[in-house]
Amino acid sequence: MLQTDVLIIGCGIAGATAALRLARNPQRRILVITRDPDPHESNSLYAQGGIIGRGQDDDADLLIKDILAAGAGASSPRAARILAEEGPDLLQEVLVESAGIQFDSQPDGEPEYGQEAAHSRRRILHVGDSTGNAIINGLVAAMRRYPNITIQTNVTAIDLITFPHNTRDPLATYEPVVCHGAYAFDRQERTVHRYIAAATILATGGLGRIYRNTSNPLGARGDGLAMANRAGARIVNAEYVQFHPTTLAAPGAEGFLISEALRGEGGILLTPDGQAFMGDYSPQWKDLAPRDVVARAIHHQMETHGYSYVLLDIASHMKADAIRARFPNIYTKCLQAGIDITREPIPVVPAAHYFCGGVLVDEWGRTNIENLYAVGEISCTGLHGANRLASTSLLEGLVWGDRSARHITSRLDGAPYLVLPGREKVPAWDESGLIADADSALIQGDMQTIQNIMWHYVGLARNAERLSRAIRELRHLWNEIETFYRTTRLSDGLIGLRNAVEVSLIVAQAALHNRRSRGCHFREDSLIFEGERLI
Ligand SMILES: Cc1cc2nc3c(=O)[nH]c(=O)nc-3n(C[C@H](O)[C@H](O)[C@H](O)COP(=O)(O)OP(=O)(O)OC[C@H]3O[C@@H](n4cnc5c(N)ncnc54)[C@H](O)[C@@H]3O)c2cc1C
Repeated sequence: MLQTDVLIIGCGIAGATAALRLARNPQRRILVITRDPDPHESNSLYAQGGIIGRGQDDDADLLIKDILAAGAGASSPRAARILAEEGPDLLQEVLVESAGIQFDSQPDGEPEYGQEAAHSRRRILHVGDSTGNAIINGLVAAMRRYPNITIQTNVTAIDLITFPHNTRDPLATYEPVVCHGAYAFDRQERTVHRYIAAATILATGGLGRIYRNTSNPLGARGDGLAMANRAGARIVNAEYVQFHPTTLAAPGAEGFLISEALRGEGGILLTPDGQAFMGDYSPQWKDLAPRDVVARAIHHQMETHGYSYVLLDIASHMKADAIRARFPNIYTKCLQAGIDITREPIPVVPAAHYFCGGVLVDEWGRTNIENLYAVGEISCTGLHGANRLASTSLLEGLVWGDRSARHITSRLDGAPYLVLPGREKVPAWDESGLIADADSALIQGDMQTIQNIMWHYVGLARNAERLSRAIRELRHLWNEIETFYRTTRLSDGLIGLRNAVEVSLIVAQAALHNRRSRGCHFREDSLIFEGERLI
């Protein structure tokens, strides 16, 4: 059993930012765990386009207006104001001053702001097209400078420790649900430890991997969401899964993101025979329309005409040297896949990208479970509503990571002593009788089945028939996987599979329940479209 003041599950921008703020009190012990062997591995690492700063002729009100417009009427104005007012200063303090990140600048030293879809100003700070890489390298290095932050890699959280669920005390039943940490699986030792903490922050990121086509890396399988759900946390807006319009459609490089910033710099979407089409779907914004509009337009083109991809042409709109300088990562990756983006258009398809819903939290990242906070992509602050505005998620992770830490600090620093439950109160993980190793072929096969169900029946365009079918098939799988889980020795893959089927059901059920199209939730069997957009 390990004890710490604050347990942070996840080491992306949200978890790392929380850790850095908490660590300013040298008495405070912070333990960050991540399932990956590499602390950098996360969705944050792969972010390309950038993070919102405050551009020229820009202010908080303009940004709020853009966030609310992209969110299709479902974004929380309060969350948008917090982000717009606190975000740019915090970015300077945490990312630039503390983590030493140098965003691209012009020769005169002024920041080089990029343009992205549905932003009314150029305000995106970036480091080439590998912004996430620079941010995570800086944050992990900064965390390592604090002796009171411990980072444990290769540790997969399995379930939250909550009372009354995980206590033998029958009287706890009459108390509010309280989180005391988590059970977590040490992937090297292959054992389960109890991590007991006065406060727990879930920062486990998104769930793109429950879809066959996704821009997300392997770890984004909704672990934290499933854990929170099992513990009784409130989950909202789960139907709003954002599909990025443009991921590379080239063998061996599927899912690689072709950043919106390419369209921000003039890139145009074309049918395979060279016709621009976004003007037909969004006369006002054309190729820079909000993501849900562009993704559906591409999907519509592909379905109607039987295309297996559409094209994104940047070569005709930007000089070759400028493309290589601004998008070195995308240029190299495409070249490896046989496409020279300085000369030819890029074949692209939409893919699952971002989870706009999540564990409902307040302005301090607090969930409805005492001592449990959720920050970053796993949480729902209400900011993204039904459709996230580009480049807001890194900033949201930063702002709410910091806010949750400030809230915990005010609570713990004011407390005379920390009350942690004793060893006898939290039962050890029971692995007795489990000797068979999980069959990796079954894990892989079931995972692919989930991904196919989600892609075909709970994808970009939904209807009641497909969603009902998805739920029936997922329920059947859920039963099979639960039996598998209860009769087999644990592995990271098995934990992820169990979580993936659970969060898939959460998304599918929310999508069936909500018969009104809005933002990235599009019901083709309903003519009710909220938020003034329909294609
Ligand atoms: C390709 C790509 C490009 C993007 N580009 C941008 C962009 O330009 N701008 C922008 O604002 N947003 C962008 N996004 C979205 C943004 O990167 C993410 O929303 C954001 O980084 C999420 O941060 P996070 O800290 O919440 O989670 P993550 O960065 O995903 O971190 C999650 C952490 O939790 C850990 N974890 C997960 N499950 C467990 C478990 N069971 N036990 C222990 N640890 C666990 C992971 O290992 C990881 O450390 C992009 C996303 C992708 C995939």
